[in-house]
Parts: sequence; structure tokens; C-alpha cells
Amino acid sequence: MSTPPQAPKSNWKRWASRALDLLYPPRCAVCSTHLSAGRSLCECCYDDLPQLTDPFCENCGEPFPGQIDGTFACPNCNKLRFAFEFARPAMVRDPRTLDLIHRLKYGREIHIASELGRLAHQAFSDARLAPALAERWPLVPVPLHRKRLQHRHFNQAAEISLALSPLVGLPVLHALHRQRSTDHQTALTRSQRLENLRGAFEITPAGRRQIAQSPMGAILVDDVLTTGSTVDECAKTLRRAGFQKVMVVTVMRG
Ligand SMILES: [Zn+2]
Ligand SMILES: [Zn+2]
Repeated sequence: MSTPPQAPKSNWKRWASRALDLLYPPRCAVCSTHLSAGRSLCECCYDDLPQLTDPFCENCGEPFPGQIDGTFACPNCNKLRFAFEFARPAMVRDPRTLDLIHRLKYGREIHIASELGRLAHQAFSDARLAPALAERWPLVPVPLHRKRLQHRHFNQAAEISLALSPLVGLPVLHALHRQRSTDHQTALTRSQRLENLRGAFEITPAGRRQIAQSPMGAILVDDVLTTGSTVDECAKTLRRAGFQKVMVVTVMRG
């Protein structure tokens, strides 16, 4: 018996993944229940992870407990001016969601990226993202520095963007390059962070081509939004290069 010599690689990949599913049936990354192929979270756990719902800060997506009418800016950012229009995390902080993000980033469980893309998709229920969908703005992953990429082998923001792309019908564009490593940001104050990030990113040739064709806007994608300083520096770089508007989507608010 012979196998077709020219079988497309994707078929082989599908075969290999089916064989692996038989040997090691996929389990939910949260509750370990058995799953059908192609998923890493069961429907129960997926539905149980807490989404960001009104009211929340219109700039940074910080949730606000209780009732509030009209728009709301949280004390963290009501005096700040960001280069992006707004940041919209899909999910609020939750140890299970954070664990999924950590397992992708540090445990290299790359299959979790598709579930994080699904979770990030929920941010697009926000009507403020409608123009981006209508005008087909590209999804721009926050880039990793080359050294970090060598260590991790992949960029989690890029993997999440790739999973999100078919769900929202927007292309992924690697429009930014991180030219300087900005490690150890967490120990710094806000002003030190901003200083540390200045000039850390540059626009790529692909980013310039997009701006020449359609400069309307871009959606920055990252795993977690904490202070917003990194996405702000990315947004500044995109705006300076010619994108008219930048919106930010993240899986979770840190
Ligand atoms: Zn589960
Ligand atoms: Zn805020």
C-alpha cells in the first residue's frame, strides 16, 4: 500500500493531530473533562469565565462595581491621554483566565491560543469597534523583542491575533517591530515605564505598505492590559507612522 506522494502538508498535520487526539484525548484546560478534538476548553468553563460587562472605564476597561449612568473614566486614567482611542479587554481579571494566559506564555501550551482568541472575540460585542470591522482594520500584535522570541519560540499576542482573525474577518498585520528589550517593567513607576518604553518600537515595511493603502486605523492585540503603557507606546508608533486611529483589544484586564 502506498500513500500519495504529493499529499498536502495540511492533510498530514490533520492526520497527525487526529492520531495524537486518539493517543491523548484532549482535555479541558480548566476542569480536565474530556473534549472533542479542536478545543481546549469545555463549554461550561468557557461560559463560566467572567467577561467584562458594563459599567467599566471607557479608556482602559477597568471594571466598576455597581451601577453607573453614562460614560466613566477610572481614577487610574482620567488624567492621562492615551495615543489609542480606548482599550477593550474581553474578560475581567480571573485566576483561571490568567492561568490560561500563563500556560500559553510560559508553559508553551500553544493550543490554548485558539481559546484565548475565542475569548478575545467577545470584546467585539463593543459597538465602538464597529467602524474597525466595517473598514477592515488590521489586527496588529504587540511584538516581542527578538531575544524574548528566541526564548519563547512564539509571540503570544501574534498567536491570539491569528486565532481571532477568522472570527472577526480581519487580517493580521505585523506592523510593529520591538527594537529594544524592555524587561523588568513591573518594578518601575509609571513615569519610569514610559521613559523605558520610549522608542522601543518601530513601524515595519508591512505596516508602511498598509498605511499607504488604507491608513484609517489598526487594532492592537495583546494578552493582558495592565497599566496600558506598552500598548500606548505601540499606538504612538502606529499614529506617528500614519494610522489615523488605534483601538486596543486584549484578552483580559490585569
Ligand atoms: Zn472545563
Ligand atoms: Zn481607566
